[in-house]
Amino acid sequence: MIQSIRGFKDILPGETGVWQKIEKTAVSLFEDFGFCEIRLPVLEHTELFSRSIGKDTDIVEKEMYTFADRKGDFITMRPEATASIVRAYIQHRLYAVDPVQKLYTIGPMFRRERPQKGRYRQFSQINAEVLGVDSPLVDAELIFMLAELFRRLLVSDVSVHLNSLGCPKCRPGFTKALQRFLAKVTTQLCADCQKRKDKNPLRVLDCKVLACREAVADAPAMIDHLCAECEAHFATVKNSLNNLKVKFEIDRRLVRGLDYYTRTTFEIQTGSLGAQSAVAGGGRYDGLIESLGGPAQPAIGFAIGFDRLAEIVAAGNNNAAGGIDLFIAALGEKAKTAALEWSCALSIYGIKTETDYSDKGLKGLMKRADRLGAGHVLIAGDKELDEGVAILRDMSTKEQVSLKIEGIIDTLKSKLTAK
Ligand code: AMP
Repeated sequence: MIQSIRGFKDILPGETGVWQKIEKTAVSLFEDFGFCEIRLPVLEHTELFSRSIGKDTDIVEKEMYTFADRKGDFITMRPEATASIVRAYIQHRLYAVDPVQKLYTIGPMFRRERPQKGRYRQFSQINAEVLGVDSPLVDAELIFMLAELFRRLLVSDVSVHLNSLGCPKCRPGFTKALQRFLAKVTTQLCADCQKRKDKNPLRVLDCKVLACREAVADAPAMIDHLCAECEAHFATVKNSLNNLKVKFEIDRRLVRGLDYYTRTTFEIQTGSLGAQSAVAGGGRYDGLIESLGGPAQPAIGFAIGFDRLAEIVAAGNNNAAGGIDLFIAALGEKAKTAALEWSCALSIYGIKTETDYSDKGLKGLMKRADRLGAGHVLIAGDKELDEGVAILRDMSTKEQVSLKIEGIIDTLKSKLTAK
C-alpha cells in the first residue's frame, strides 16, 4: 500500500470544517482591516530564500526542499511566504501604485524538519503583511488584528510575546556584547549553539536545549541596547497595545529564526500544544525590500501556523461543521427519482440536503441519517407517493408530520428555514 510521505499529512473530511471556519474568519477579519489577498507560487528561485531568510539559518542550512530542475536551475519549495510577497511587490512594482500594500495569503509551506505533533514537513500558514509603513502604530494595529482573530475563534489559552530586535544601527553593538558573553559560557552550549555563537549569535538565545537556556539566563538582551529611535518605536508599540487593551508580555529572549527581522518582533504562544508552543510569529523587516532590489520601504507582517491553530480550535470543540438539515429516505425507484428532484431544489436553495440512492431499507437509511447528523428526515416510499404524501420526522423531538407531495418543495423550504 502506498502511504503519504513522512511529515506530509492529509486533512480529512472530519477536519476540514475547522480549517474552513478558520479561513473564513481570518479572511473576513483581514478584509475588514483593509487587506487584499495575494496568491503566490509554491516554487521560487533558491536565491530568493538564501538572500532573505539568511544563509546561516536553520531553514536555509538544513530544511529547504531544494533541487535542480531539468535545466539545472536551483529551485526551492517555499519554506515561508514573506520573501515571495516581497518579490511580488518588487517584480510587479506594486509600490508604484501605492507604496502601502496590505496583503494576506494562505497556503502550504515546506520545511524538512523532524516531524512530530504540531511540526510537519508540509504545513500551512496564514500571512498578513503591511508593506510601506514604518509607523509603530501599524505594528500595534497588526498585533491587535491577530489577537482579535484568536478571540473570534474562541481560543483563549494564548499570550502575546513581544520584543524588539533593534536595527542595523544598534544591533551590531548588541551582537558584540552577546558574543563576548557567549565566549564565557561556550563549554556549556550544545553543538549547534557552538556554531551559532559565531555565525548567528542571536539564535543561541532561543535554543530549546535546557543547558543552553541555563547558560544564557544572564545574557545581555537587545532591548537594553536599543538606539534612541528603536527605543521610541518600541515604546509607542507598547503604549498603543495598552490603549487597545491587548495584553502582552515582554520577552527579552524572543528572537526569530529568520535573519531579516528588525525592531518589533512578536510571537503568539499557547499552553495547549505541548512542545510546539508558537502558534504565530512575526515582526518588522524594514531592510528586506531594499536588500532584494526594491525601494527602501519598511514592512511588518506575521505568519500563523494554520495546522497548529486548527489543532487548538478542534480541541476546543468549536467545530461549526457537520450536520445536515434534511435527509431524504427514499424507498423504491419512484421515490428515488422524486428525491433527486427535491434534493437538488433544496440544496440550491441553501438547505443542506442529502439522499441515498442505494437499496437500503428504512432501518439502514435512518442509521445513515443519524450518522450524517440530519436535523430532519423525509420518509418517502412508493406507497406514500401513490397516496400523495411523505412523512417529515424531526430528529431531535422525534415528532412526525405528514406532508402533501403537491408543493412539497415549498413546504420544506418554509418549514426548514422557519427557525
Ligand atoms: P515561522 O515562519 O518560522 O516564523 O513560523 C510561523 C508559524 O508557523 C509558527 O509559529 C508555527 O505555528 C508555524 N510553523 C512553523 N514551522 C512549522 C512546521 N514545521 N509545522 C507546523 N507549523 C509550523
